[in-house]
Amino acid sequence: MSFSFVELFYLVATALFVFSLHWMNDPKTARRGVIAAAVAMLLGIVATWAQPFVVNHGWMLLAVAAGVLIGWPLSRVSLTAAPQRTALSHAFGGLAAGLVGTAKYYLWLSEGPEELTTFRMIAIIAEVILGFLTFTGSLFAAGKLQELSWVPQRPVTYPGQNVFNIGFLLVAIGIGAWLVIAPADPLAPTVLFPAMIGIALVFGILLIIPIGGADMPTVIAILNSYAGLAAVAMGYVLENKLLITAGALDGTSGLILSIIMCKAMNRSYMNVLFGAFGSVQPKAPEDAEQGVYKGDTPESAAQIMDQADSVVIIPGYGMAVAQAQHKVRELYDQLKKRNITVKFAIHPVAGRMPGHMNVLLAEADVPYSDLIEMEEINGELGQTDVALVVGANDVVNPAAATDESSPIYGMPIIEAEKARTIFAIKRSRNPGFAGIDNGLYFNDKTWMLFGDAKVVIGDLVKELSGESGIH
Ligand code: NDP
Repeated sequence: MSFSFVELFYLVATALFVFSLHWMNDPKTARRGVIAAAVAMLLGIVATWAQPFVVNHGWMLLAVAAGVLIGWPLSRVSLTAAPQRTALSHAFGGLAAGLVGTAKYYLWLSEGPEELTTFRMIAIIAEVILGFLTFTGSLFAAGKLQELSWVPQRPVTYPGQNVFNIGFLLVAIGIGAWLVIAPADPLAPTVLFPAMIGIALVFGILLIIPIGGADMPTVIAILNSYAGLAAVAMGYVLENKLLITAGALDGTSGLILSIIMCKAMNRSYMNVLFGAFGSVQPKAPEDAEQGVYKGDTPESAAQIMDQADSVVIIPGYGMAVAQAQHKVRELYDQLKKRNITVKFAIHPVAGRMPGHMNVLLAEADVPYSDLIEMEEINGELGQTDVALVVGANDVVNPAAATDESSPIYGMPIIEAEKARTIFAIKRSRNPGFAGIDNGLYFNDKTWMLFGDAKVVIGDLVKELSGESGIH
């Protein structure tokens, strides 16, 4: 393929990446965005492969086969596991960048130190440090989100942790700076370069261990940003423009997403990275000030909803676990039939990934206009007859506003407690993601509907559809 064709393919791919991000802004066009990004990636691979410097096609085929073998099962994971799946993708991106940087360093060193120009060395050092720390950090984050037994779930903190971590990183950067000045130092290939890689690998884990559960989504977005920056550095090392633009898009979109999520949780960026949010240990069950739960039946809950003028449904992670979105849609239809105003309250971090609830409800064809953002719905909940909490916990926990010792203190919540009556569906008395009790469930106006969300909503639908006598 001639040079100008390669440039054209790269240009089209870049444009597709930009459009893809734009289309992914809206659930209605998100699918198109994903397809555009996949096509852009394909164009990038084809254009690179077709260049004359690619001589060993066997290796290329092997790489494609390895990618397909890993990528195919990753594409089949359930939506509830999407955050850890995303973290794994960042880990692979980081590993690729780290390996390419390492290979290029040793290749150029063998060709003669004059190949290791200052510019190339700066790009290699940035690529290798960012790549390898993203690799282990993302793997560790994926393990944490997957709740692997050998990965500590709670934040691990100790005095002087931030000073130690920053000092540790500075050692790697110091070695890197020396390698830029003296790339062919006799100790460089055997000691300094490998030591820098080792420090970056360990630093990735040190970066993640103090981070509390509730901050993990933000950290995934930050790792996304690091993986993008590593790709930019890789683009400079390989002199590949597509890698530079795609990496920059990836890096900045990850950064913007993490800032949006920090805002949603009312947290400062620095506090997420260094604050060990979520480090407050939950009280042991015997010490906890347990309130009194009042159980109710789907039958009487349906009767109250039947009489309501307005119902706000507040979905959370439990709706995703139960895959209850289609039953929720049936409930929505039943209530709408009765001319009841039905809206969905969408908290920006409900579930386990940004936009989790929007995706599930869109899958069940719930009209997008009835999905209402947190700030707006909070203004309406005081005039709402029934708030129905479907497997949500942290995002409706009033402790976020009232209890300064709570690990979620300061996080904006959906103010379900303002509604006249609250029904909450969950399976047990267990806490939510942050591991803390929820006073909403002990509120005088709250009635618990214990059970799997799909089953309970199914029962409500049965009651309302007349099978049990309510008309
Ligand atoms: P939570 O995890 O706080 O609570 C979910 C609740 O759902 C639990 O209390 C659980 O109770 C219940 N539940 C689980 N399975 C079922 C089921 N089958 N049927 C009925 N109920 C069920 O979820 P929220 O959505 O309220 O809050 C999200 C939390 O996750 C926040 O802390 C957020 O920071 C964090 N997070 C968010 C991410 C994101 O990007 N959105 C990513 C990672 C974490 P029980 O076990 O008793 O049924």
